[in-house]
Amino acid sequence: MLIVATKKTKKSVKRKNSPRANPRISQNGTRFAGAAAHLAEIGKSFHARGWVLGTSGNFSAVISREPLRLAITSTGLDKGSLTPAQFLEMNEAANVVRGDGRPSAEALLHLAIARGVNAGAVLHTHSVWSTVLSGSHASQGGIALEGYEMLKGLADVRTHKHREWLPILENSQDMVELADHVSKTLSEIPGIHGFLLKEHGLYTWGAGLQEAKRHVEILEFLMEVLVRSGAAQSA
Ligand SMILES: [Zn+2]
Repeated sequence: MLIVATKKTKKSVKRKNSPRANPRISQNGTRFAGAAAHLAEIGKSFHARGWVLGTSGNFSAVISREPLRLAITSTGLDKGSLTPAQFLEMNEAANVVRGDGRPSAEALLHLAIARGVNAGAVLHTHSVWSTVLSGSHASQGGIALEGYEMLKGLADVRTHKHREWLPILENSQDMVELADHVSKTLSEIPGIHGFLLKEHGLYTWGAGLQEAKRHVEILEFLMEVLVRSGAAQSA
């Protein structure tokens, strides 16, 4: 009798951790698959626009808030041929809990943004425009975007008269230090929609993937306008 009881207990423990018996694990799996497919499409479209050439850029989406879980690009991938299988699920310590490969070195920045502004998705590009402007305006600490109709594409912006401040942070290969700097910037300048890393690229986010994608398109458009209209030279 005792042996039977022990077996039953083991079986029930095993079942508890299986996706079928634990709705939360199963739900995460479905969300992860959906996010990975959507992120792969977004990544390919950004590559086609020239915003993530080489293996540059990385993309993530929050698939669970408690505990924090993100679907994120594996490192070193050609973004022009991204597939859903090249995404990982990572936890709040940037450890992989689903999928093969390593998360990008910048995974800590994605986590800082997901926490700092409660973002549902974080997208990072390395465009020519952001590289040029973040270099030319670095001494000013950021770029002011004002008077453009396209600003209305940013969440909660209703008029072209809105003044959007795009801070420029010093670039670093020390991701722990850089993630701290990002967290500090997000808490000190509430309401921003993105920031630049000097001569590196743009980080922006949104409540969900669709909004984050829109923010990349709007901010990349406005930075291209500034460079083409000569703002980089006059800075
Ligand atoms: Zn980068």
